[in-house]
Amino acid sequence: MNEQLAILIQLQDVDSRSDVIAEKRRQFPLLVEAAAKPVEEAHAALAEVQGELDALNRDRRAKEQDLKEREERIDKLKTRSADLKTNKEYQTHLFEIELAQQEKGTVEERLLELMDRAEALQHTVREREAQIAARRSGYEAERARLQNEQNAMDAEAERLASESNTLADRLSPANHQSYEHLKATRKGVAVAALKNGTCQGCRLSLQPQLVADIRKNEKILACTYCHRILYSPPPALESQKT
Ligand SMILES: [Zn+2]
Repeated sequence: MNEQLAILIQLQDVDSRSDVIAEKRRQFPLLVEAAAKPVEEAHAALAEVQGELDALNRDRRAKEQDLKEREERIDKLKTRSADLKTNKEYQTHLFEIELAQQEKGTVEERLLELMDRAEALQHTVREREAQIAARRSGYEAERARLQNEQNAMDAEAERLASESNTLADRLSPANHQSYEHLKATRKGVAVAALKNGTCQGCRLSLQPQLVADIRKNEKILACTYCHRILYSPPPALESQKT
């Protein structure tokens, strides 16, 4: 095989692997963000029930104050009993106390309901706090895993970059320039394989004579259509390439 062609094939392979890593590397912040989402949702769920509980406690304190005032009023009513002169006045007075006590009873019932509801909400708060803790530890583990993966990829990217430089240095200036130009203008693929007479860069079929020449891998030849540098992989390799 032509030595320069062999270098170009290796260089393309190294650079393509670099591109794949760079693309994956760009996904990391999104993956970390996605991993944090369940924790944020759990926080929102807690805030919701906490808000409900706060409102309920305000309502409860108001009802307790109301109850206290009603009790004071009933006590005051009772002390007036001595001032009453007629039986009719006394009956009216008793009726007034009875009514006030009934109203107080209604407030007490409502207060008990609020306390039951508060207890249920407290239980939900504890459940949601536990959910946050569980999700947070899941998130921390995932973030650490992603960080490790990222570090490994950074190391691999660095290694590939240095390999790419070493290979590029071995190219003639003309071949290097042509490679860089094609890579920049052909979506990162400057060197493509020939498979069944078809350029794997643009998927078009080439003239039989050109196909025959490329199969020899003796010269640097370009695709008639996309101008990518073409090579013919050995049969075993060809079956792996798509
Ligand atoms: Zn082509």
